[in-house]
Amino acid sequence: MGGGDRRVEPHVELLTAGWTSHPGLVARRGGGRRPVRFPALVAVVHHPDGVILFDTGYAPRVQRAVGRGIDRVYGALLPVHVTQGETAVEQLARRGIAAEDVTTIVLSHLHADHLGGLRDFPAARIVVDPRAVTAMRGSSGLGRLSRGWLPALLPDDVVDRVLDPTSLPAVEADLAPLGEVTPAHALVADGSVVVVPLPGHSDEHLGLLVRTPVGELLLLGDAVWHLRAVTHGDLPHPVVRLITRDWAGYRRTVVDLARLARRRPDLLLLPSHDEDAIAHVQGLLAAS
Ligand SMILES: [Zn+2]
Repeated sequence: MGGGDRRVEPHVELLTAGWTSHPGLVARRGGGRRPVRFPALVAVVHHPDGVILFDTGYAPRVQRAVGRGIDRVYGALLPVHVTQGETAVEQLARRGIAAEDVTTIVLSHLHADHLGGLRDFPAARIVVDPRAVTAMRGSSGLGRLSRGWLPALLPDDVVDRVLDPTSLPAVEADLAPLGEVTPAHALVADGSVVVVPLPGHSDEHLGLLVRTPVGELLLLGDAVWHLRAVTHGDLPHPVVRLITRDWAGYRRTVVDLARLARRRPDLLLLPSHDEDAIAHVQGLLAAS
């Protein structure tokens, strides 16, 4: 293990690459009928070993993928909004970061708003459960639709580039009660970036813990859609159970996150689609 004496606190930037929308009450109890915007978060971790992304957001190829056959149902339920210049790879290019500079992509899970930009980064290893990738590639028809999978979004060489998170070194992260069943794994040798299982929304669902200059940041993906789920127990509308892989597991993860948040008020928690929470953490990171 490396790292030495130097305490690495990678600079983190939060981008959003497109968005979809749901009625507010789908996202959380009492949320009203007004549509709520669900931005597609992409976190950029500028680690000395290379640029790490957490998720890849939407890209125009998602709109094309939902334009055919049964996948049109997906597009009707979750309208994809992404404009020219808004994809992760284009936003990174404007910052002087080439697609090939991205060495690692951690996918919270395999839904289109997290996966859409993956094909734009040909050099990155892809941290995701290989079993989920295999299942997705072999899926079809209603089974595929019910899982929210669009296999066309996977790069052709995905199998060669997948890195099983459980093959990484297990680490003690101060995240109890999370991790008591399924341990966290270090993505980099200095321990500043840690992959954290957050199952329920989907089997393969991951979070990412990053030690930043403004404190530890736990990127939650879709473990919750809104911070109020953690702080106030506001779970989504019951209809969301239909698209949640394991509802009991989902609820357990939310309860564990609530306990964690009470025990560690210093920890920054960030769901992928909570516009206010994203703006808050963006402000903290920009001021650092
Ligand atoms: Zn999502």
